[in-house]
Amino acid sequence: MNIDRTTMLDKVKKETDFWDIVIIGGGATGLGAAVDASSRGYKTLLLEQHDFAKGTSSRSTKLVHGGVRYLQQGNVALVLEALRERGLLIQNAPHLVKNQSFIVPNYDWWEGPFYGIGMKVYDMLAGKLGIGKSKNLSREKTLELLPTIESEGLKGGVIYYDGQFDDSRLAINLAQTAMDHGGYTINYAKVTGLIKTNDAVSGVKAQDQLTGEEFEVNARAVVNATGVFTDDILEMDDSDAQDIIVPSQGVHIMLDKDFLPGDSAIMVPHTEDGRVLFAVPWHDKILVGTTDTPVESPSLEPMALEEEVDFILDHAKQYLTGNPTRDDIQSVFAGLRPLVSPSGSKDTADISRDHTLLVSLSGLVTIAGGKWTTYRKMAEDTIDKAATVAGLNEQDCITEDLRIHGWLKNVDREEHLHYYGSDKVAVEKIIENNPELGERLHKRLPYLKAEVIWAVRNEMAVTVEDVLSRRMRALLLDAKASIEMAPEVARLMAEEAGHDKQWQEKQVEEYKSIANRYIFN
Ligand SMILES: Cc1cc2nc3c(=O)[nH]c(=O)nc-3n(C[C@H](O)[C@H](O)[C@H](O)COP(=O)(O)OP(=O)(O)OC[C@H]3O[C@@H](n4cnc5c(N)ncnc54)[C@H](O)[C@@H]3O)c2cc1C
Repeated sequence: MNIDRTTMLDKVKKETDFWDIVIIGGGATGLGAAVDASSRGYKTLLLEQHDFAKGTSSRSTKLVHGGVRYLQQGNVALVLEALRERGLLIQNAPHLVKNQSFIVPNYDWWEGPFYGIGMKVYDMLAGKLGIGKSKNLSREKTLELLPTIESEGLKGGVIYYDGQFDDSRLAINLAQTAMDHGGYTINYAKVTGLIKTNDAVSGVKAQDQLTGEEFEVNARAVVNATGVFTDDILEMDDSDAQDIIVPSQGVHIMLDKDFLPGDSAIMVPHTEDGRVLFAVPWHDKILVGTTDTPVESPSLEPMALEEEVDFILDHAKQYLTGNPTRDDIQSVFAGLRPLVSPSGSKDTADISRDHTLLVSLSGLVTIAGGKWTTYRKMAEDTIDKAATVAGLNEQDCITEDLRIHGWLKNVDREEHLHYYGSDKVAVEKIIENNPELGERLHKRLPYLKAEVIWAVRNEMAVTVEDVLSRRMRALLLDAKASIEMAPEVARLMAEEAGHDKQWQEKQVEEYKSIANRYIFN
């Protein structure tokens, strides 16, 4: 990004009447909307209360997928749309999305033919955007591809393909894409109220979370893309508004790669509570999850429950010969699905995973639900609607073929810095200028000191947690190692941004208290 946060905020405070569209929320949904609106040429401002992707969008299973589970439920339209979006995302962000093989292990005679046919339908629905043909595997081949799978009773497997990505890295790249097209995306800027003119929403009141300063911005359209916090904004619009969000918590645990060596992931299509469970290689570790637990109220740091972790471990033990225990968990993280239930039903397993677009009487446009995979289509629908509601000049959506910031084909995924895509050379330049910055921050993780400098300079990282959790993924990969990295990250950030010793100490303390929540043994 070539404009820094302070410069953007100064302009926002000065030019209050400049904006066509203000978007509230900097997760997948809001950032997607910012990319869509700015690339159509609308003057676009996005305000995020914390850091980009601090909410649900950094806590997913990291799959770009059609959703085999929705196929089981017969929701063909949703699967079709998601498979198409999967294809577009692989095309538009090849540096961050890769093709991942999944194997459904079969222990009953009927599972091979049953899941084999199901996956053929999945392939067929993907059409020309398909990324690999599914097939049935013998018991021997299954064991060759999944050497640590429980072999007792194993009959064979079904292999199929989906996409896999790094969620918060994509979020940062989306913010950069919006900015590349002239949009402004500002983190640590919380919307505290809506401005209305003749009962129509005409802007927002906001507060800079770093300085406490309040400001107001007028806009022709206002979009509410606040995920599990959607109801808070709806309430700012109408104090009698009915709640529509039923948050549902999903937990993941991170294990050492030895528990599942090789390239293939495991997909368990039916757990004891009827869910789908994944064990997926990710950044040289194994990500296992997830759960579906209704929660009362939204939070930015949801906490995994003991029973959720036990549920995941119990299933992991059934399928993995290494029998992982709590001691093997390197990090636990929880995320909240922003499920929409306009009817008020609280049965989260039954609520549609489709997205919902609402226009309030005031003209406030609300977008919620959906999946990371479908963020682009959600954004297209949202900006179409916002443009109509606000009477903006009609501009066609161009994101189907729009390259996302960092776009680079055929990246070498064995190279640590590959996820920067076309920015990788610039990160390497930092090391060239100061070879000391080529050193690792921790012996158990591959992250380099130069990445801290890059994150502050180019990716709007403000806190140690922004760097360790969402620019790098250290917090999710190995929470204890990330705590050990924090003092050096704080020192490098302070040097780059001109903070004092006190700032560093406070940052490290704050980071520790967050990261301790990810340690479960
Ligand atoms: C456990 C789990 C696993 C998942 N796995 C997958 C998967 O593998 N693949 C997939 O495609 N999808 C997956 N999903 C779904 C996907 O992660 C979500 O649909 C998506 O991230 C939601 O994004 P969002 O932008 O709507 O919400 P969020 O990411 O929560 O963003 C909303 C943002 O709004 C901000 N905000 C709130 N109030 C204000 C305010 N007043 N002012 C300014 N900002 C505000 C919040 O801070 C937050 O950053 C998963 C979800 C969960 C929970």
